[in-house]
Amino acid sequence: MEGHLPPPSHPRYQSLVIRERLVAGMAAGIVAPQGLLAHGRGEAFDYLLGEQTTDAARRSIDAAAAMLVLARHPVLSVNGNVAALVPKEIVALSRAVPAPLEVNLFYRTEQRVAAIIAHLQAHGAATVLGADPDSRIPGLDHDRGLCTAAGIGSADVVLVPLEDGDRTAALVAAGKRVITIDLNPLSRTAQTAHVTIVDNIVRAVPSLEESVHRLRSDPTSAQAIVARYDNAAMAREQLRRIRSGH
Ligand code: ATP
Repeated sequence: MEGHLPPPSHPRYQSLVIRERLVAGMAAGIVAPQGLLAHGRGEAFDYLLGEQTTDAARRSIDAAAAMLVLARHPVLSVNGNVAALVPKEIVALSRAVPAPLEVNLFYRTEQRVAAIIAHLQAHGAATVLGADPDSRIPGLDHDRGLCTAAGIGSADVVLVPLEDGDRTAALVAAGKRVITIDLNPLSRTAQTAHVTIVDNIVRAVPSLEESVHRLRSDPTSAQAIVARYDNAAMAREQLRRIRSGH
């Protein structure tokens, strides 16, 4: 992998490192080819946002952490891109909350589910749900609706990073509180979720873990953060930043 990379002084070094992780993830059967296209769209928005965590994203990260620590049964959904980009970090977040991980794929194949579970376990995950789905999210066609009753099926709060709009809408319609991480503030997912973190997942997940550690023992602050959070105002602020060239 290193052979394809320019020296660390290259201005696009970080973004090229991230790309290589996805390419390696595809070679390992973790990332779907369509995942590379989704990443390209994300990269474009990251570029426009200055490749940094904005103040608005920080507020969303705190609101997401607050919602996760206050939840009765939170679940973290993992797809191929998430597993390739932040395997260690998503496992650490799952421990910190604590919340189970569930593999949930748009382009589901049993081989990809197994490869993602093995990859997460190699990065320290104990149990990963999703290999034997026994429930479904109402309103989605066959494979895309599959989930587990012990995980997403009975969750009250679900983190669905890099998700498709239909599934986000179906989770909201099923009465769940939905948190997403999505660099495109205009995507259907970004506009449908209750908390949208408009930030690159490689920056957002470690910050989310830090915020969870901070809020875990302070439910009063967590409740106040959730009560005053305004997702529509956050999206307007991110769009203004993109339009103004920050
Ligand atoms: P929607 O159905 O919600 O309108 P979409 O069809 O544009 O979304 P998908 O391909 O289903 O998008 O999902 C990928 C989403 O994840 C895109 O909005 C993309 O901007 C975002 N994304 C891709 N890579 C990253 C990343 N590294 N960090 C954060 N967001 C990302």
